[in-house]
Amino acid sequence: MKSVVVHYQEIALKGKNRPWFIARLVRNIRQAVSDLDIREVRVLMGRIEVVLGPSAAWESVRDRLARVFGIANFSRAGRAPLDVDAIAAEILKDLGPGDPETFRVSARRADKRFPLTSPQIEREVGGRIKEARNWLVNLDRPALTIHVEALTSEAFYSFGKERGAGGLPVGASGRVACLLSGGIDSPVAAWRMMRRGCRVLFVHFHSYPILSRASQEKARELARLLTRYQFDSRLLLVPFGEIQQRVVLAVQPPLRVVIYRRLMLRIAERIARENRAQALVTGEVVGQVASQTLENLSTIGSVAAMPVLRPLVGMDKEEITAEAQRLGTYPISIIPDQDCCTLFTPRHPATKARRYDVESAEAQLPIDEMVNEAVTGAAPESYRFPETQP
Ligand code: ATP
Ligand code: MG
Repeated sequence: MKSVVVHYQEIALKGKNRPWFIARLVRNIRQAVSDLDIREVRVLMGRIEVVLGPSAAWESVRDRLARVFGIANFSRAGRAPLDVDAIAAEILKDLGPGDPETFRVSARRADKRFPLTSPQIEREVGGRIKEARNWLVNLDRPALTIHVEALTSEAFYSFGKERGAGGLPVGASGRVACLLSGGIDSPVAAWRMMRRGCRVLFVHFHSYPILSRASQEKARELARLLTRYQFDSRLLLVPFGEIQQRVVLAVQPPLRVVIYRRLMLRIAERIARENRAQALVTGEVVGQVASQTLENLSTIGSVAAMPVLRPLVGMDKEEITAEAQRLGTYPISIIPDQDCCTLFTPRHPATKARRYDVESAEAQLPIDEMVNEAVTGAAPESYRFPETQP
């Protein structure tokens, strides 16, 4: 079985943009498997065929495809001439020695000109397999489902489906900049935007050398891990310690967190524009912490002229944590570090920082200069997956 048949999200890809979406998906699949022995990735009548070379391990291919957004499902498949005898013969060759309790054949025709209907293909192929192996048919709850897809000049068969990552192909929806802390939430927020087809630029604020390098290391690890979903990433490490010290000197404790966040957004917006990103993304959630009340979210978000997307806004911490665990970001996120915001954060931040008070406090600070310095001091890093891709 030397092929993988990939089915994409039908509904999401409808409309005029369809060919463009599919081309993007094919490009992303090629990149995801670029270091594996793959002969070809081609579009074939509403599906994509990945042709495996002799040394491509199915497990590796499966692992890679499971992280490509835009895929609904995929299966390892064999090819047969378009004829029920030939299809059944090929299937019988590839069926292992095991005996499932029950089975069924499930057929689809990509080309309706094929003289047999799907139920007829199912009956004909199923009958031959039943006869050869003496298996019981169960149409409702079969232990094994054999899928047959009839195309114009050939058929594919497969024994089971892998679930795809869903969403839209990365790059199809443009670029966003995610404020990536070392915490649990922002990596999940970044992943959710990738799944909606956005390429995510990561922006991390650190307080080195006032604090250790730990938060930068975490941001790098998270960026590396998330790159497995978008293949090419940029991370910007932005020095923020001096800025915080200036805020501490000039601003009363309750307003500091909101002012840090407003500064982060201003800096991130500049970086986003320089990198042609069209929106900012944060891991903020309504009511999660004192700085994330509706009032504060609005006071913070009002400094940005571009949209601030908060994909986790309505989620519970448990839901976010479960998703972080599934993604594998959780163990990195819980490594203790001196987050820039914990050191300089007052015990009791204002839960309703008023725009007027915040703006008066900021009037004491050289905001533009601080933003300029941070943008100039930002250190870019690049990540690729697979790391050895050509
Ligand atoms: P997270 O788990 O993402 O750190 P959190 O619950 O700790 O979130 P806050 O610390 O209040 O929440 O941060 C809110 C959002 O602000 C984060 O989700 C992130 O998008 C952004 N942010 C906070 N600190 C940083 C940082 N050091 N660098 C980049 N972005 C940050
Ligand atoms: Mg945090």
